[in-house]
Amino acid sequence: MTTNPTGFAEFHRRSIEDRDAFWAEQARLIDWQQPPQVICDYNNPPFAQWFVGGTTNLCHNAVDRHVASRGAQNALVAISTETNSERAYTYAELHAEVQRMAAVLKSLGVQQGDRVLIYMPMVAEAAFAMLACVRIGAIHSVVFGGFASSSLASRIEDAEPTVIVSADAGSRGGRVVAYKPLLDEAIELSAHKPAAVLLVDRGLAPAAMRAGRDHDWAALRERHLHAQVPCVWVESTHPSYTLYTSGTTGRPKGVQRDTGGYTVALACSMRTIFPAQPGDTYFCTSDIGWVVGHSYIIYAPLIAGMTTILYEGLPIRPDAGIWWSIVEKYQVTHMFSAPTAVRVLKKQDPAYLKKYDISSLKALWLAGEPLDEPTATWISGALGVPIIDNYWQTETGWPILTLCNGVEQQPSRFGSPGKAVYGYDVKLIDEATGEELTGPHQKGVVAIEGPLPPGCLQTVWRNDERFVNTYWKSIPGRLIYSTFDWGVRDEDGYYFILGRTDDVINVAGHRLGTREIEECIAGHPGIAEVAVVGVADPVKGQVAMAFAVPRDAAAVADEAGRQALEAEVMKQVDGNLGAVARPSRVLFVSLLPKTRSGKLLRRALQAVAERRDPGDLTTMEDPGALQQVTALLGGAA
Ligand code: ATP
Ligand code: MG
Repeated sequence: MTTNPTGFAEFHRRSIEDRDAFWAEQARLIDWQQPPQVICDYNNPPFAQWFVGGTTNLCHNAVDRHVASRGAQNALVAISTETNSERAYTYAELHAEVQRMAAVLKSLGVQQGDRVLIYMPMVAEAAFAMLACVRIGAIHSVVFGGFASSSLASRIEDAEPTVIVSADAGSRGGRVVAYKPLLDEAIELSAHKPAAVLLVDRGLAPAAMRAGRDHDWAALRERHLHAQVPCVWVESTHPSYTLYTSGTTGRPKGVQRDTGGYTVALACSMRTIFPAQPGDTYFCTSDIGWVVGHSYIIYAPLIAGMTTILYEGLPIRPDAGIWWSIVEKYQVTHMFSAPTAVRVLKKQDPAYLKKYDISSLKALWLAGEPLDEPTATWISGALGVPIIDNYWQTETGWPILTLCNGVEQQPSRFGSPGKAVYGYDVKLIDEATGEELTGPHQKGVVAIEGPLPPGCLQTVWRNDERFVNTYWKSIPGRLIYSTFDWGVRDEDGYYFILGRTDDVINVAGHRLGTREIEECIAGHPGIAEVAVVGVADPVKGQVAMAFAVPRDAAAVADEAGRQALEAEVMKQVDGNLGAVARPSRVLFVSLLPKTRSGKLLRRALQAVAERRDPGDLTTMEDPGALQQVTALLGGAA
């Protein structure tokens, strides 16, 4: 499918040089109650306002719009290998459920502009709640289910929700995690108290209900079975939701998203980036607690009239074939996942990939972390479909760098997430001088010239100052958005992300991206996963230190094996990148510290290696990973 016969370069050029005409065209992909008057108001940089004067509704575009033409088609399929349940909702059924939820929220006092905090596992009711909020003009704030009560409390204080929607429990790998006690404790800790809690009781864990505050969803739903709650037409610039960044580099930032710009950006992305037809099936393995889940589990596939799969469970339970059995059963056409999940599968028996008929699948998109070449090669060979990397941030809401194959088919280059997406005026900037680097193969900070395109953050929730100071003031002498990622571009416009700007290691004056060293080490057949950090060194300024998970734990069970593998890894780096990049040590661990969204917490590793306080760890998955490192380094000191 080609939406522009003149090719991608021209498509991109128009999006920047003829911005208003370009986006006015894309705005026609969605329904408006009142059409926009001004396409982009950038009179107060860096604050951009998109489609000013237009009124629309995100839920209308995701659900109501499709009911007449595809009411009997599946809209949402909720599959749980945790509770062994599976339930499909057609567009007509989803429409009814969302209205029930909207009626219940209204009955609990939620009004337009109010916040609703959603602290839920991956169940259909979480999607109903998100869609119900935007239906009535309330602003949702989804907090990853199972976050500790202190992290949840700080988000409650920040969002000041009227209502919190939650569940008795979530489940991970067969282990029930009771949410209600965590929620009760969080409300206790928080200075702000919600007027009501709406609880979805899955029957997994006992949940004490507090009279007057806590309400049972099933009971209230019964009362609103035939509810008809019309969509509220909101200004394009009305916030649809707030969402926190993953907290990989520090205290998470509360991103605020608009309505019109976001709906247009997502609708457009389903034509150009994830070329889709209504009726196709999208399976995104992320979580609704993250931006990928917001955009590509819930909103974009529904806006495009597709069937979307909401999956609660691990990729390897009951076995490593579970994803592919879902692909076969539901004829999944588009799949979206993260490199971290693929690396988990890579450690399993490859026979699982051959067990199912996955011929419906057109491509697999991966995002969230650098996609290393060995992982990309492995999954591409195993699936036999294109693997398309895409690079973006919570802040942007949709891809910054990828291949827009719906505009023009372009070859993938392993190690590169692709080219600058239309709408994004991406530049590489010299951090020290603020100068733009225009030649190929020059390393710089990946930055975006304002205005950011539709769909990107409007501001940091209730903190315009933090928005301006954090993102727009880091490069000397100019107002430009910094991604805080470090990258390089080749002569054909393909970018390569080298790591976070604070992950750049300076060894005796040589600037090295941690990613380059990681990629090199990951290429060693004995290594399953690796993290490299820069550690302060009195002589060299900084040295690289590697933390690696061996493919076979037995290989490093004794001191001789450990030393042999460490020496081999060092030799590999010497041979490929040179001795300056060689890690001072390679420490073997059984797991690496990661955020709940699967990102390496390099800053925590670095802090522990430098004997510093690791800072905000509220989004960390498994504290055991860091304890292992502390023990190793403690023993080594
Ligand atoms: P915080 O901003 O709180 O430190 P975070 O940056 O990890 O956390 P996210 O918005 O979830 O929060 O992640 C965006 C970041 O993830 C990007 O800035 C980049 O560092 C990394 N990233 C995402 N996709 C890719 C990709 N395809 N290749 C390389 N890096 C990626
Ligand atoms: Mg970030």
